[in-house]
Amino acid sequence: MHCHVNAGPTRTEQMDDATLESVLAFLAAGRAGTLDITGGAPELHPRFRSLVERARALGVRVMDRCNLTVLEQPGQEATAAFLAAQRVEIVASLPCYTLELVDRQRGKGVYETSIRALKALNALGYGEPQSGLVLNLVYNPQGPSLPPAQEKLEADYRRILGEQHGVRFNSLFTLANMPIARFGSMLVSKKQFAPYMRLLKESHREENLARVMCRDLVSVDWQGTVYDCDFNQMLGLPLRIAGKPRVKLHELLEKDLEGNAVAVRDHCFGCTAGQGSSCGGALA
Ligand code: SF4
Repeated sequence: MHCHVNAGPTRTEQMDDATLESVLAFLAAGRAGTLDITGGAPELHPRFRSLVERARALGVRVMDRCNLTVLEQPGQEATAAFLAAQRVEIVASLPCYTLELVDRQRGKGVYETSIRALKALNALGYGEPQSGLVLNLVYNPQGPSLPPAQEKLEADYRRILGEQHGVRFNSLFTLANMPIARFGSMLVSKKQFAPYMRLLKESHREENLARVMCRDLVSVDWQGTVYDCDFNQMLGLPLRIAGKPRVKLHELLEKDLEGNAVAVRDHCFGCTAGQGSSCGGALA
């Protein structure tokens, strides 16, 4: 219900070869230093590994937004070792440190599977500061409230996951729920949409504007269309250049985006409320 990309096992979209090549061409041209791969479950894409290998060969930092449970899917037994060998940074959703809340948000059995996956990643060196293998966790609130202070929650995660399971990780990213997609629909159905929007607007902090993620990333959908961020992608609000309504990544190879206007709407208050929110956690 919280997934802003409406992901799930019934989704079948898959980036085609030409679009994957345009991503690699963009990286090869030095237009981005980081490739942050998300899905669904991107590890299931038949060209996931070649994309990672070729990006890494270009010296690009690669991040995998991993739902953890995919690591136990048939055929994925070697994925964790592959990610470690390629030194891919893993960003893994674990919306709480308790079984009850994780299973309530992500489905029955997800907590135990996630803990097993985290232990397997730890065994490969992930989460060990000296190994350089980065494992970050992601928290988002269960309901229409702002996330708690990131630093304190990270300390709680570290203590409880460490004591109860021996699990180690590098950082915790706290994300605000965006009032869009499934979460937005749920708010509407429970008549909580207007109060949540009011909370976001009243919590807006001007200083967060300097660090919102749309200032330094672009989001590319499975068909190669470019957006200012993942949330705009879900809302069908593409990045515009000189009024052109839809731009493909291959058209941006030579284009400088410095100073290009970002498409903003009310959902942007989800990024600027309180401590701020982004794919990399709090902005403050
Ligand atoms: S939701 Fe709005 S503020 Fe947040 S990253 Fe996207 S465009 Fe920027």
